[in-house]
Amino acid sequence: MSLYINGKLNGVKCNDCGHIRFPFTNYCNKCQSENVSSYLIGPKGQLMSYTISYTRPMMGKFKAPYAYGVSRFLVDEGKHVDVLGIINPKIPFEDIKIDDEIELIEDKLFVIFNMAGVEEK
Ligand SMILES: [Zn+2]
Repeated sequence: MSLYINGKLNGVKCNDCGHIRFPFTNYCNKCQSENVSSYLIGPKGQLMSYTISYTRPMMGKFKAPYAYGVSRFLVDEGKHVDVLGIINPKIPFEDIKIDDEIELIEDKLFVIFNMAGVEEK
């Protein structure tokens, strides 16, 4: 199952209780219903928190140090979904600001956040 569809996260919405989450699963993790549909999330969100890893590379693709964090995406009826992702490694750490807008970067293996309006180094 791919992480992205057309630049958005491939999430899931429960047709019984309305719960929305990411990544896609063929059941609802809140009420266990199997009456679910694909639900696309993003591409814009808000960075809620982040940290910097100085230790191991992430699956060989991102060498330490790299930043990762949680972004919040607004979805139906004032609800939101919080998603963990890597912050674009070409963004200087000093330009990563909590509460700032992020945009998704489509990738096969990772959820990647780009800081909106920040130039890559
Ligand atoms: Zn449900």
